[in-house]
Amino acid sequence: MVEIKKNSATFLAHAGRDPQNQYGFVNVPVVHGSTVIFPDLETFDNKAQKYSYAREGNPTSDALQDVITQMEGGAVTRITPSGLQAACLALMSVASSGKTVLLADCVYEPTRHFANRVLKCMGVTPVYFDPRIGAGISALIDETVCAIYLETPGSVTFELQDLPAIADARGGRDIPILIDNSWASPIFHQPLSLGADIVVHTGSKYFGGHSDLVIGTLTANEKWADSIVSTHHLFGSASSPDDMFLTLRGLKTLRMRMERHSSSALQLAEWLVGQDGVKEVIHPALPSHPDHALFQKYFTGSGSTFAFELEPASRLAVGRMLDMMEIFSIGVSFGGFESLILSPRPGNVRTAVPYGREGNLIRVHVGSEDVADLREDLAEGLKRYNRARN
Ligand SMILES: *Cc1c(COP(=O)(O)O)cnc(C)c1O
Repeated sequence: MVEIKKNSATFLAHAGRDPQNQYGFVNVPVVHGSTVIFPDLETFDNKAQKYSYAREGNPTSDALQDVITQMEGGAVTRITPSGLQAACLALMSVASSGKTVLLADCVYEPTRHFANRVLKCMGVTPVYFDPRIGAGISALIDETVCAIYLETPGSVTFELQDLPAIADARGGRDIPILIDNSWASPIFHQPLSLGADIVVHTGSKYFGGHSDLVIGTLTANEKWADSIVSTHHLFGSASSPDDMFLTLRGLKTLRMRMERHSSSALQLAEWLVGQDGVKEVIHPALPSHPDHALFQKYFTGSGSTFAFELEPASRLAVGRMLDMMEIFSIGVSFGGFESLILSPRPGNVRTAVPYGREGNLIRVHVGSEDVADLREDLAEGLKRYNRARN
């Protein structure tokens, strides 16, 4: 028996399909449909049929859920129309009125807005903590805390959170840990095995992999499986079968794409260190990163995105750099084949830890282009920045 790892290229080439049940065709079909027909009253009354209505699932969603569940080592997965909704439903699954949710200060900004607007309306208090708090989170944990939400690393500033230490700090309390695993993907990071309970992903990024769809996933361990299933059901969350099919297609090449993203991004990060105008390169796989030890311990590879801080200059200088890039395009996403660049200003939203950087921050997503071309594009961009700042 060949032992196949659940995040291996071999697994991904074969998972989520059953040719013998599909007239021999290799891929799972795209099931377009709402209504499901029952043969007789007895089948209907006894719920004796696998599918009853498309919102609750169909063969396409089942296939996708199965692959994600296995890759994350979870008990159940649900598909959502966006990654943001996966994050929101994860929070809705565990939040209760009068309680507190602890969130890492670096969480994806729209997740933060959801917590600040919707959770607050429900009487749930969001409390933001230093992403590098580690075991120190125990000082924030009391009987009011109903969940801890992490994103490691933060998608703009790349702070890692010490997931096992945070899991231990719960001291046996029934507090689920929710985590956005979008950066590393299950190829390089398995949070459920490190103490997390619910994992969320934007499938719009690496899973789809081609910048042509918006989708999300949430996966829970056995203990929290019913919570996410019932919340997903209560909200009537349903996703497009075409997008689910494209996501399944994307997953076939997830490992090879991740390996390419990871290696190209790291090569560029290493090259950027010490370049004129670059103050600091912020990439967890660089030994200079403050959380590098955690990265080495808990990740087997890195994502396609990283950041670097430029020497201080006006936004005009940043515009000179970004507006004339030839290969990198300005865009907020990541995970596609095309490289992206942006200059975020995270200082505007953080509350737990002052952001503190004075230089302009640049975040890149390194796509599948040739590294030498990307390097040249960045080198020319830096020259424009330096000319404009001097
Ligand atoms: C993009 C993103 C999301 C949201 O995903 P959508 O599919 O765009 O809704 C959530 N978390 C992280 C880290 C992201 O980068």
